[in-house]
Amino acid sequence: MSIGKFENSVRLDRDACKGCTNCIKRCPTGAIRVRDGKAVITKEYCIDCGQCIRVCPHHAKIATYDSVEDIQNYEYTVALPAPSLYGQFNNLDDTNIVLTALKKMGFSDVYEVGAAAEIVSRLSRDYIDAHPEQWPLISTACPSVVKLIRVRFPNLIPHLLPLEAPVELAATMARRKAMEATGLPSEKIGIFFISPCPAKVSSCKFPLTIDHCDVDEILAMKDVYPLLLPYMKESAEQPDDLAEAGRIGIGWGNSGGEAGGLLTDDYLAADGIENVIKVLEDLEDQKFTNLKFIELNACMGGCVGGVLTVENPYVARVKLKRLNKYLPVAKTHEAPADLGYWNREVEYEPVFKLGSTLKESIEMMRKVDELTARFPGMDCGSCGAPSCRALAEDIVRGIAKESDCIYILKEYIQHISDEMSFLDVRKRRKDDGE
Ligand code: SF4
Ligand code: SF4
Repeated sequence: MSIGKFENSVRLDRDACKGCTNCIKRCPTGAIRVRDGKAVITKEYCIDCGQCIRVCPHHAKIATYDSVEDIQNYEYTVALPAPSLYGQFNNLDDTNIVLTALKKMGFSDVYEVGAAAEIVSRLSRDYIDAHPEQWPLISTACPSVVKLIRVRFPNLIPHLLPLEAPVELAATMARRKAMEATGLPSEKIGIFFISPCPAKVSSCKFPLTIDHCDVDEILAMKDVYPLLLPYMKESAEQPDDLAEAGRIGIGWGNSGGEAGGLLTDDYLAADGIENVIKVLEDLEDQKFTNLKFIELNACMGGCVGGVLTVENPYVARVKLKRLNKYLPVAKTHEAPADLGYWNREVEYEPVFKLGSTLKESIEMMRKVDELTARFPGMDCGSCGAPSCRALAEDIVRGIAKESDCIYILKEYIQHISDEMSFLDVRKRRKDDGE
């Protein structure tokens, strides 16, 4: 896997796009424009939140991920189910049933992301207690939130909790366990993450805060779910004893679950990208006091709301809560000493900056203000930009023109038509010898 600075899972299917502009206003970072009748994503702005996938009526926004058939490319395979996977099934009272079904479906072994989440919970408790100067620490498990802070809220970067996401830790631990159990070299072992969202696809393929992620292939939960169903009944009759995650680990699938594992009340948990942005804005304005931790999830309801899941997030949330009644509080607590922490810092990426110097930015901002004042302020989206101000910024950046605004175009056409009428009258008068 190569490491790219701005690599995304969310892409456009050009053939399916009708240029309807539904998506442009729902993108939280203004990453989408419609140009020449098709949507275009600026990858530097995209945080892989999946909002555009949810709102596109023509299914033209798609997430890219790997195929289940890739199992055949390895001698030994390990499935890493995200905790939200359990929320997809009805009346599930034992996680072993899903884990057994994963093995029957074709994986050699399983390693629960929830087990690693319990380790991250314990590391988080220790880190938060030891670093009051960074309070409130912001959860870094949702890659969209980390990407958003990196491009839009640089002042909050020092508040990021510098711990590996559970899937990253789970992948390394699963690989080590598999190599020890089989004696196989690393390249013959395939670590497959079953992901609820595109953000985790890109964060595994192109990690920001660790040198290398041990996940080899990322599968969409919605692809794996139907393949598991035929094995669920049989697995329920005599499930293998595979579960390593308790209530704390499985709780990470719901918004508030990660914070719940910290065993403190001094936290805030917000979900849904618009709410996340409001919380980050308030945090920048120092509106929160006495908080130790802030959990933020870009998807409504937390990971159960990811666009690669199948169940309604509110239903999945209830299912996870019910399942938790049958689980012990926690099962896994120890991390190898060399794992768990970032080995790279998150750096501010000033992708929204207008100019390359402060002076240039101020001048460009003045032009943006001037242009915005000339536009009708209706934010109609007909120009292909999400707002009049966004069009003004595009013009100042040199990637759009004033006549992209249909109101300005109308004025221009009216002006030409008036001039032509005037010339026509003059010509007629001249012809009539007036
Ligand atoms: S919502 Fe966006 S991606 Fe979907 S058809 Fe309309 S313009 Fe294209
Ligand atoms: S995935 Fe999110 S950030 Fe990226 S283009 Fe779609 S709505 Fe915008």
